[in-house]
Amino acid sequence: MRDQQYPQTIRPSLFENTIVGPIHSRRFGSSLGVNLLPLKHKHCSYDCIYCECGWNSESERQPMEFATPDEIAGLLEHRLKELRQQCTPVDSFTFAGNGEPTLYPHFPEVVDIVVALRNSYYPEAATTLLTNATQLYRPEIAAALHKLDNPTLKLDCGTEEMRQLINRNNDLGCSWQQLIDSLVAFGSDGIIQTLLFDGHSNGKPVSNLVDTEFNAYLGHLHRIKPRHVMLYALDRATPEKALRKLSVDELEQYAQRIRNEGVEVKVYG
Ligand code: SF4
Repeated sequence: MRDQQYPQTIRPSLFENTIVGPIHSRRFGSSLGVNLLPLKHKHCSYDCIYCECGWNSESERQPMEFATPDEIAGLLEHRLKELRQQCTPVDSFTFAGNGEPTLYPHFPEVVDIVVALRNSYYPEAATTLLTNATQLYRPEIAAALHKLDNPTLKLDCGTEEMRQLINRNNDLGCSWQQLIDSLVAFGSDGIIQTLLFDGHSNGKPVSNLVDTEFNAYLGHLHRIKPRHVMLYALDRATPEKALRKLSVDELEQYAQRIRNEGVEVKVYG
């Protein structure tokens, strides 16, 4: 059983609500989460070895029930009325949650709903999406992302071989070529998010730090020309245990190599 891979005190971190927070985010300030995915279990086109939601296999036998766009609109507006009454600040409406938000069946429709509610209740707040970018090749998803202030797109490595070791793309995802082509097409409208680490998975070394891998990653950044890169280190419990968290000094060394390519970087240690 996968459960046995977690020490007793560590459990996958799953959202049990559709609207979450606001919580303080290292990257986005006071962040009101919009979780479009099923409650209490995970749905994703990746199965990252560092995923705080745990392994996909732990969710496979769970019912795949999604809230409707009307239900999400109602829940969000109810929460926004409460927050405004309490004078609670909101810096970001953040699509994030139990897996990959763009797999939600009505994602473009919900983007329009959230943007409209942001405009009505907290017009100064940003709209943010944390995505693994595996659906960005779909024109309707790319069009929806263009309506958001901070589309934040995962790229952890430079080669398909390493993506399979780190992110473990599945049938819901896309090919490596589709991923890179769609990131290049999105270009400076997107922010690239990259988690750096090394360690072992299933007894094999896994690292996005080795020179061949990091140089290939730099080559992709050179073509993508993102708005900026968010570099960050492991922060929470991971399902694969043998992973090493980088220090801020180490992150800064890799950040400098990215800056040498003319790309702005923000470091979150
Ligand atoms: S893309 Fe995000 S939600 Fe999906 S497996 Fe990776 S870390 Fe988890």
